[in-house]
Amino acid sequence: MRWRHRRPNPRTSYSLSRIRIPNPVPPLLSPSKIVCVGRNYREHARELGNEVPSEPLLFLKPPSSLIASGAPIVLPRMSEQVEFEGEIGIVLESRLRHAAPGEAERAVAGVVALNDVTARDLQRRDGQWTRAKGFDTFCPVADTPVPVNDLTDLTIITRVNGTERQRASSSEMVFRIPELLAYISSIMTLEAGDLIATGTPAGVGPLADGDTVEVEIAGVSRLRNPVTIEPTTTP
Ligand code: MG
Repeated sequence: MRWRHRRPNPRTSYSLSRIRIPNPVPPLLSPSKIVCVGRNYREHARELGNEVPSEPLLFLKPPSSLIASGAPIVLPRMSEQVEFEGEIGIVLESRLRHAAPGEAERAVAGVVALNDVTARDLQRRDGQWTRAKGFDTFCPVADTPVPVNDLTDLTIITRVNGTERQRASSSEMVFRIPELLAYISSIMTLEAGDLIATGTPAGVGPLADGDTVEVEIAGVSRLRNPVTIEPTTTP
């Protein structure tokens, strides 16, 4: 059989409404995994009635939860309490395995504003966090990792509909970023491109249909997403 080149038919037209556009994932970010740290700011641990952990508390979000700035966060019908968590994201530029903190710090490609969107009711109900943290669109992240000289002096700010809701410095973290990366690398190999969410400060709160949520690492990285609700499914 011979392949024949088919010329485009100029009479063919396409309806835009029939094209399904997937959630846009930032082109520079395709992590093999997203490793997250829970309760890494004392005030946030207290606001949810939790103890400050004596060692980093880790969980994972699936890469399928990633969306870019501008894409909508979709509130799932399964939850009645979806909350924002503004965080400093770390993108790695090289593999880490059993790294010391200094080596881990040198492996950082840059920082990105990140929102660890969480279904708080499901987090409480399930006892582990896979469902609560894992819905599609639950990991908005800024497009481009930005290199910084000092990981200990970054300010993280979250605004909902223009009103500031969270503000803290990375100097307030229970476990600092190089120590976190070293600790994680003692458990699992971190690959170039992997994304680490370093924990949220106090001030978390619910999101509603129609909101706009913005996470900023002051002067470095900014992320802005509208919020919509999952459409009801029709048979
Ligand atoms: Mg978080």
